[in-house]
Order: sequence, then structure tokens, then C-alpha cells
Amino acid sequence: GTTRPQVRIVIVGHVDHGKSTLVGRLLHETGSLPDGKLEMLKEVSARRGMPFEWSFLLDALQTERDQGITIDTTQISFRTHSRDVVLIDAPGHAEFLRNMITGASQADAAVLIIDALEGVRDQTRRHGYLLHLLGIKQVAVVVNKMDRVEFSEARFTEINDEISAHLIELGVTPTAVIPISARDGDGVAERTQNIAWYKGPTVVEALDALTPARPLDELPLRLPVQAIYKFDDRRIVAGRIESGQLKAGDEIVIMPAGKIAKIKTVEGWPVTPVSGPQSAGRSVGITLDRELFIERGDVIAHTDAAPRDTRRIQARIFWLHHQPLSVGANILVRLGTRETRANVVAIEKAVDPGELASVAAKSIARNHVGEITIALLHPVAADPYLDNPRTGRLVIEVDGRIAGGGLVMKIEGGQRGTV
Ligand code: GDP
Repeated sequence: GTTRPQVRIVIVGHVDHGKSTLVGRLLHETGSLPDGKLEMLKEVSARRGMPFEWSFLLDALQTERDQGITIDTTQISFRTHSRDVVLIDAPGHAEFLRNMITGASQADAAVLIIDALEGVRDQTRRHGYLLHLLGIKQVAVVVNKMDRVEFSEARFTEINDEISAHLIELGVTPTAVIPISARDGDGVAERTQNIAWYKGPTVVEALDALTPARPLDELPLRLPVQAIYKFDDRRIVAGRIESGQLKAGDEIVIMPAGKIAKIKTVEGWPVTPVSGPQSAGRSVGITLDRELFIERGDVIAHTDAAPRDTRRIQARIFWLHHQPLSVGANILVRLGTRETRANVVAIEKAVDPGELASVAAKSIARNHVGEITIALLHPVAADPYLDNPRTGRLVIEVDGRIAGGGLVMKIEGGQRGTV
């Protein structure tokens, strides 16, 4: 069938401000619950003599998922008018940061929830900082439990002003700030009488308006070279297309050397005939119209949209090694299929995910996040993470073991592919 744009969101906010309740509501309001689920949970609550809570829904689905009962709910998701919204688990700051930075999970957008009575708390501010750290630019703020403040517009405006100022300072402009009662449903899928003064989008509308991540095959071509093979006297360059598309006849540049050639033929890999353009996710073998020096670690791109070659990269990393990372450290960096030795020349920032606050930046401890500048022994072709989530990631090894992973934030020097 037709694929609907998918957006992956994470819901963050101070404990008890209503995250699970909002998810339960959203599942219900968007008709995404399995038949009878709601009724069953209501019945169970009644039998146990406890009031029904919307958060039970999320608990129940998560339990089923963990126990593998419901095969098709490996992830919790719901449908808005034009989007599939997938909920990314945020079990804790450290895990969430690690997963996001190392690429295990990826959120395109976030919902930040604030209890209308409690207002903006320290934890709320730290969550803003977390989103900033991860480069999540689309953030919808919901001011929940408006029923607890008699749906006061003045109280809403107060919180709106405070959180907006905080987020904007962090470089994040909220896409919407929405007054709701997750428990009663106001503002979730409907602008009820209680919030008649509010003219903005509901939560469902705000989610529907999120911009999905650009599909990988619409990004510029990036084919990191895995290997070169001799096959029937032909030299075949094999690799996986990480982004973009290619076809026979395309003019390409081999980075970082900047040598230009044309694609003569495209094969599937292992060698199988293919025809037409091949796109992101496919493993291919290509032959070129001339003999050029090319090796594992090179990146093939189109001449008009080549990555930059650089020996100096600024990265935001999650550190996993028991030995803290310090300035001067000699590390091995993997970028795509390229491996090169590198030196840590500066540590600009170190952040303790538990506190979500910067700590003295002399070194980066295990399970901490840091911003570092590294000098590479050999030039590499790289993209900033914000331009390309596939080629904008790096892995750091120490003594042959993975010691950290992260995002390429900035590429210093270098230039776009040239001959
Ligand atoms: P979480 O820790 O952020 O997931 O918060 P929960 O969703 O578990 O909610 C915490 C408590 O707040 C629960 O007792 C909910 O019933 C209550 N709650 C959530 N939303 C609302 C709301 O809109 N109005 C009121 N009055 N209570 C709410």
C-alpha cells in the first residue's frame, strides 16, 4: 500500500506531569487501540475497586510488548490525519542520550509536557537542554492538567512565556504551545469549550504538522566503498548506498581524493543484474569508465553534491570506555567504511546525563556526553550529522574495542569535491 510519512517522537517532562496519560489519550483519540482494550482495562480497574487511569493503557501495551504477546506492537504508534507517529522510548536520560547519539534510535521531534499547576521545574529545563543537545529542533510543548488551574488563560500564558524564552535561548523554537487536560481530553484531539480562548492547534494537529525526516534516498548520494573486486576482468567497486541514488551514466567524484569518473555499469551485490536507479539501503557493485586509484574507505558521491574532505572534525560523543577520554588521547575513528587514527585536540564540553549539566571539561567520563575536536591522521570525506544522519556518525575505538560513538557536528577546513 501507500506509505504514509512517519515521524518519530519522544515525550519528555517532569515525572508525574502526565506523559503516560497523554499517550493513553492519544492512542484512544486517534483510534489506535486494539479492539476492546480500553473496555477491558476499565473493567479490570472497576473489579479491583480503583479508578481507571489513562496511563494504564501504556503500561499494558508496554508489558505485552516486553513479553512478546502482541507481535505487531514492537513499537507503540498511532496515526494522525496524515502521519504515522512512532513513540520512541525514553527509559532514562543516559539510555536515551546513548541511543540517540550512537544511532540506536532516532527521534525527529519531541513533546515537552508541563503540569499547569506545578509550572516549569528544573527537570523541565533540563529536558529542554537534552533536546538541544540532541539537535531536536521540532518541539511541541503541552501545558497539561489545565483542569487543575480552572483552564486559566493567564496561567497558560505565564507558562508559555517562561518555557518559550528558555527553549529559544537553547536554539529551539516551539512549534506549538498547547493547553490540555490529558485526563479529560481537552486540547488533545479537540478544542473543547473549556479552552475556547485558545486558537492554536490541538496535540493531534501539532503532531500532524511535524516535518518527517527526509527520506534517505532524497539526500545526496553517499556510497562508502567497502571493497574493490576483480570479476571477469572487470574492476567492481562494492558498497552499500547509505543515501541518495545512482545509475549508470552518472558523473561521480571519489572522495577525499576528488577524482572524477562516470559510472559505466551498476550490478547488484553480490553480482546480480539490476536495472534502473539504485537507492539508499541497497548494496551495489559499480564499474567506472576509467582506471582510478580507489580504496576501501573512500566515498562516492555525485560531483555536484560531494561531501567535504577534512582532517579536523568537531563531534558530540557518548563515551562508553571505563577510562575517561582526555585531550591528547590517541584513538581510532571509524567514519563509514574509513578507519583512521586520530588525536583528541580539544574537549569543549562534558555533560553528565544524570544531571544534564556541564561538568568541568578536562576529560569525558564513562557514560557521559562530550563535545570534542579531533585531528585525523588521514583526510576523510564526512558530512555533518544534521545534513546526513548516515554519514554524519562516527565510532571511536580504543585498543580494538568500541569506546564511544557520536555525531559529526562540524567539519573544519576541507572543501567540496574537486578534481
Ligand atoms: P508521567 O509520570 O509523566 O507519565 O505521569 P502520569 O501520566 O502517570 O500522570 C501522573 C498523575 O497525573 C496521574 O495520577 C494522572 O492521573 C494525573 N494526570 C495526568 N493528566 C492529568 C490531567 O490532565 N488532569 C489531572 N487532574 N490529572 C492528570
